[in-house]
This record gives sequence, C-alpha cells and structure tokens, in this order.
Amino acid sequence: MTATSDTRSATQTVDLAIIGSGSGNSIPDDRFADKQIAIFEEGIYGGTCLNVGCIPTKMFVYPAEVADIASDGDRFGVHSRVDGVDWPAIRDRVFGRIDPISTGGLQYRELECDNITVYASHVEFDGRDDDGLYRLVTADALVLAREVVIAAGSRPVIPEGITESGVTYHTNNDVMRLPDLPRRMIILGSGYIAAEFAHVFGSLGTQVTILARGPRLLRKLDTELSTRFTDIASGKWDVRLERDLVSAENLADGGVRLTLGDDEIVEADVLLVATGRVSNGDRLGIDTIGLDLTDDGRVEVDSHGRTGARGVWALGDVSSPFQLKHVANHEERVVAANLLKGWDAPDLDTFQHDVVPAAVFTHPQVAAVGLTEFKARDGGHNIAVKVQEFGDVAYGWAMEDTTGACKVIADRETHRLLGVHIIGPQAPTLIQPAIQAMSFGLGVEEMARGQYWIHPAMPEVLENALLGLEF
Ligand SMILES: Cc1cc2nc3c(=O)[nH]c(=O)nc-3n(C[C@H](O)[C@H](O)[C@H](O)COP(=O)(O)OP(=O)(O)OC[C@H]3O[C@@H](n4cnc5c(N)ncnc54)[C@H](O)[C@@H]3O)c2cc1C
Repeated sequence: MTATSDTRSATQTVDLAIIGSGSGNSIPDDRFADKQIAIFEEGIYGGTCLNVGCIPTKMFVYPAEVADIASDGDRFGVHSRVDGVDWPAIRDRVFGRIDPISTGGLQYRELECDNITVYASHVEFDGRDDDGLYRLVTADALVLAREVVIAAGSRPVIPEGITESGVTYHTNNDVMRLPDLPRRMIILGSGYIAAEFAHVFGSLGTQVTILARGPRLLRKLDTELSTRFTDIASGKWDVRLERDLVSAENLADGGVRLTLGDDEIVEADVLLVATGRVSNGDRLGIDTIGLDLTDDGRVEVDSHGRTGARGVWALGDVSSPFQLKHVANHEERVVAANLLKGWDAPDLDTFQHDVVPAAVFTHPQVAAVGLTEFKARDGGHNIAVKVQEFGDVAYGWAMEDTTGACKVIADRETHRLLGVHIIGPQAPTLIQPAIQAMSFGLGVEEMARGQYWIHPAMPEVLENALLGLEF
C-alpha cells in the first residue's frame, strides 16, 4: 500500500504508536499505563524471533543435535542409531509451544490492556496533520500519534532471479512448517540462517545442497573459523561455492531445478532462500515525514534511538546494523526509558553497541564477539593471537572433539581482549565469560587467573587460550 493523503477522520488519537509487535511489544509496561497506545502488526503477533526466527529455529536445532549424537555413538563405544525422525512430531512440538504464546500475547494486549489498541494490519506514515501529529494509515483506519516507535524489523532478501522465475521457494517464514521432511533441499545462501537450516534438515535426514556465491560459508566470521566451518560443512552437505544462479524452474513432479553458471544443474524437492535480510524501512512511507533511509536501507537513528523526525524513534532490525534479537531487546529498553524521559531530556539512555556478540546454532556451533583478526590488524592494533583447540583440554578429550577451537585476540598494549571466536560444542555458552570481560574491561591476566575455572569443564579451553597469549 502506498500512503496518500486522505480526508478520513481519525479513528483514534494516541500518545504513542508502535509499528511492529516484536521487540516493540515489550515497550508498554506499567510505566506506560497512563498513555493511549496503538500497536500495528501486519504479520504474526510477537514478531520474527518468537514466530519465525531465533526461538523456533533453536527448538528445531535441539532435536537435530539429538539425532547427531545418536548417530555418532560408535566413537564412544555406544552403539546407537537413528531409526527415523517424526517430522510432524518435531514440528508440532515447536509450534504447539510457540503459537499459543503469540496468540496469548495478542489476547493480553486486546483484552487486558485498556490503554492499548492493536491494529492487525500494515501501516504507513502519511505526513503530519496541522497540529503536528503523525498520520498513520492502514487500509481502513487513520491513527494520529504524538510519538511513534518504528520497530518494524526486517524481511528475507529474495534474489531477482528467484522472484522473476516464478519458482516455488521457501524462507524462514514457512520452511519450518513444511508438511513433510523433504528428501532433498537446496539452500541458497551462506550466512547464519542458511547454516542453521542446513544443520536442522541435514541432521534430520534431508540431503542438503548449499549454493554460495562466495568462496566460504559464514564469511562474516573470522577467516579461520569461516574456513574451518566451510571444511566441516563440505564433509556433511553438498556445499557448492562461488556459484551464480542463472535460472530456476519448477519441475512437473513438484520439485525445483536450478541452473547455475557453466550449465550446472541442481535439483531438489524444496528450495530454501536464505540470502540475507533487509530492513522494512522502505515500506513505511517515511519520506512523508522527511526521513531518508541509509544506503543499506535502514531507518537512521542516533545513539538514543531518535530518528531525524521529532517524536519518532526506531529500534531493532529496521534501524540496527546488527539484526540480532539481544540487540533489538537492548535498544527497546533504551527507547522505552527515553520515551519516559522525553525527547530533549539531558540524560537520555544510550545504545551500547561496543561489545555485541553473535552465535550460529549450526553444527558445530559458532560464537563470536569483538574484532576478527583481520579487522584488528586493519584497525592498527598491535595484537597477540592464540588459537586453542578443544582437543587440547580434558573435556574435549571426553567429547573426542577434533574440530573445535577457541581463538582469542588481545591488544598487546592494554592486555585487553579485542575479539574471541569459538567453533565447537556449546560455543554460544562458552563465550559468555569473554563477553563479560570485554564489557567490563577486564584484562587478560586478571580474567585468566583472577577466578577459578571449573576443572575439567569445557571453559578450560578459553582459560588456556588466554594463558597462551604472548604479550
Ligand atoms: C531464521 C532466523 C533465526 C534467527 N536467529 C537468531 C538468533 O539465534 N539470535 C539472535 O539474536 N537473532 C536471531 N535472529 C534475528 C532476530 O530474529 C531479529 O534480530 C529480531 O527478531 C528483530 O526484532 P525486531 O523487533 O527488530 O523485529 P521483528 O521481531 O521482526 O518485529 C517487526 C514486526 O513488525 C511488523 N511490521 C513490519 N512492517 C510493518 C508495517 N508497515 N505495518 C505493521 N507491521 C509491520 C512485522 O510483521 C514484524 O512482526 C534470527 C532471525 C531469523 C530470520
């Protein structure tokens, strides 16, 4: 829908309008009880993380891990195998838990919050009225708002070659609800979403083919981890690197055929597109309130969440370069506090984007915080680097791990960590002490020797990596 000025009388005038029910839904708590609020949601209530992102994917990752462990018992003298997986049971466990949370969240807002009205529709800005209130239009409503929080998230990028071809494809929005486990799946893309779904479907029994444009998977990671991961992935899945899509078509039997450069053909039952995500900022009519998008399509905000339009704030994927739920949550807390303080308050809360960790729940798991080695060197830091193998510590022996590693990068002058990169079992959990140390400015020696490290637990790999740094 394109917003156009209309002459409709306002359905409602509110103190605060929130576009998006993901992180935005967390704003109205008791502190906002005296404000009239409108929440607009065009999709499933609760947003990406709850419905089609972090939470369901990880709930699928867990059974994938169970299948991997069961089929890998021989190495430990435990003769186990996977006799089969019950996809509908796996799928229904996930959505049987999640769907009621989404429905319950919507019902709570609609039935129990007298000051909140939920508009279950797409909304766009349509300029300001004579009193300076923001005009927000849906297909059948006009809401006037004193302040607005844009928390409209992001959506999957679909390459033109796919949309123009008319081929049937899936994204994270629907692939987890497939009626059956596909026998063969093509995953277009090489980032974290591609890697997580490759793990889920591959471990549950689907033959996975990954088509990547670049020379490695998970290319945003430190090159050492990205290279390791690509090698491991290539041993499990059909990983085809540096491929360009030429054409795509549906097959008569319901499958898909992709033609790549040099007439290379790939066929599968299902095509999953996981080629990145783009901010929904381009679908909000923000030009009507004098705002532009950044070059990469985000709504621009300052460090307090304020856009260039007075009274309009933004948070999460729509404006953040990180596109991570823990960042969106943090930004939501900052914006909520600032809404209460007021636009011009001298003590506005500030986004903390210095130490932002990320994890990929693929197999093996990956987690990272801070600078890659390349970026640290490129940034002019004089660095010490240590790579500690999981196989060097006792718990790594217990797990017979041969591929896990913990790479630490520290500044030779300050003796502070600049980056930590872990690949291996439970990497997202193992990395937390490093996140803490970096967040609170703990030096390497203090971190390594100022606390006990439980023996013989896996965090010893991080302890040993720290002790191995040569300043
Ligand atoms: C498959 C997948 C796995 C992920 N896994 C992780 C993970 O493990 N860890 C992690 O940190 N992050 C993960 N993420 C990213 C995380 O989900 C997002 O960073 C986070 O959900 C963004 O929250 P948000 O509030 O900004 O947007 P969202 O939760 O997307 O909420 C935005 C809402 O706005 C609605 N909306 C948009 N435009 C309009 C409009 N014009 N009118 C009305 N409504 C509108 C949308 O329908 C949506 O519901 C994952 C993402 C995906 C896709």
